[in-house]
Amino acid sequence: MALILNGKELSQTLRAEIAQQVADFIQKTGVTPCLAAILVGDDPASQVYVRNKEKACAAVGMKSQLFRLPAETTEAQLLELVDQLNRDDSVHGILCQLPLPKHIPEKVILDAISADKDVDAFHPTNVGLILQGRPRFLPCTPFGIQEMLKRYGIETSGKHVVVLGRSDIVGKPMAAMMVQRGAGADSTVTVCHSRTKDLASITSQADILIVAIGKPKFVTAEMVKDGAVVVDVGINRTDAGLVGDVDFAAVEPKASAITPVPGGVGPLTITMLLGNTLKAANYKLGLN
Ligand code: NAP
Repeated sequence: MALILNGKELSQTLRAEIAQQVADFIQKTGVTPCLAAILVGDDPASQVYVRNKEKACAAVGMKSQLFRLPAETTEAQLLELVDQLNRDDSVHGILCQLPLPKHIPEKVILDAISADKDVDAFHPTNVGLILQGRPRFLPCTPFGIQEMLKRYGIETSGKHVVVLGRSDIVGKPMAAMMVQRGAGADSTVTVCHSRTKDLASITSQADILIVAIGKPKFVTAEMVKDGAVVVDVGINRTDAGLVGDVDFAAVEPKASAITPVPGGVGPLTITMLLGNTLKAANYKLGLN
């Protein structure tokens, strides 16, 4: 029986800690940390994500502002809003909910968000700082995974971490974080993707297997070493409901620890966004 890494429970613990830190911050500075969220168009999933982010801010005592723009918004109009938020001293964190409508190049918008307010850690400056081992912000999903490994006391030093998936949001930053020196890292890292040959021979060498590919139940028992720690980032909507990228029922008996879907990695992502927003407010006041 594998240890179930309960992201929902951990998320509640972390949010209680952040709420206390926010209260202390407000008492000390008289400033309430504020997250500005930009939502362009009416993608239903994005609307749910943004609403959840707003609720989460309120629950830990932070402010949030939602900027809803119609799908026809031009690149120039969106850049103008980003510029306005960059210059607004009462806004500490800015996020632009992805995906954007096709006519707006995401990179241009993400690059325009001030690196000091880039709580998603997508800005090239922040990505570079992560790679150099002196991060300002960590991207929320990999940050949540690393925090989970730490809080559950899972040894990462000298362990072979195999990251399956090389997205800019999860796979690449996850790999960059695990290879750094220090607590929750110091791992030997292999990154796999769709061009990787003989994938199972590599994943089955993993002490810690982190999967983010967006393919329901892709990782089977044969791909996992006995006693491995398995972290499933996948969120796939199927007829049978939400499933991860890992075949949980088949892999769980082989693993020493595993994240469920839902209730594993998912709840931690917004929690880390709250932590990043508080951090951004601290930066703004020169408290970091
Ligand atoms: P993505 O941008 O969709 O990229 C998928 C990655 O998986 C790519 O690097 C791709 O390789 C690789 N891949 C696809 N098929 C593969 C195969 N058959 N064998 C090996 N590699 C394969 O990924 P993402 O944005 O990181 O999302 C991945 C999953 O995580 C999705 O289910 C998403 O919903 C979920 N997710 C969850 C959270 C959360 O829990 N909060 C956050 C973000 C994402 P190539 O690069 O070669 O194409």
